[in-house]
Amino acid sequence: MRLAVVEDNLELAQLLTKGLKAERYDTDLFTTAADARAGLSTTRYAALILDLGLPDGDGLAILREIRQRSDPLPVLVLTARGGLQDRVTGLRSGADDYLVKPFALEELVARLEALLRRPGQLLGRSLAVANLLFDTESRQAFIDDKPQILSAREVAVLELLMRRKDRVVPKKLVEDHIFGLSGEVGSNAVEVYVHRLRKQLSERGAKVQIHTIRGVGYLLAEDKAA
Ligand code: CA
Repeated sequence: MRLAVVEDNLELAQLLTKGLKAERYDTDLFTTAADARAGLSTTRYAALILDLGLPDGDGLAILREIRQRSDPLPVLVLTARGGLQDRVTGLRSGADDYLVKPFALEELVARLEALLRRPGQLLGRSLAVANLLFDTESRQAFIDDKPQILSAREVAVLELLMRRKDRVVPKKLVEDHIFGLSGEVGSNAVEVYVHRLRKQLSERGAKVQIHTIRGVGYLLAEDKAA
């Protein structure tokens, strides 16, 4: 499995490529934003590990470009910026996960495995609630039969909520589902994804509601008023 690693700190970059190789991942290392763009445009990677502070630009710009072309490439952002605002900005720009330096290699590998893990297709091929349909094989959501572009994390949340429609899904379960069992998830990260998903579904005319059950979790149901 080939990964793209974008990191300009050579010491850390070497540590990463060596550590990932020990876990049997092949990596291509890019030390500038320009090199990263060139590499990403020619090679299909299983995931991208992305530093934000680069000598010739901001990693977030690369991330936005990836999402603008609707590329579902899983992206794990690495950064020294630990502030809440940066974290939220990173997630809103389409990062699937976020790791603040310094971090343990084991933690990076655990997060990466969670990103690469696709939820099992256990319960039939498609899920439907009102005019919202989810094809579990292609992992594609449809509203009124029109395909919808959502981030990998949003898709993961949507599938989980649709599988348990009309039932409360505990927040912890959503958290584990989208972040794996690596822990250290910021307390607002799940809210960020649910909020974004709810907004997109409503803007695109899905006749469903995602209810927040305060202190417990979330519940997806048909919006009878819509
Ligand atoms: Ca850097």
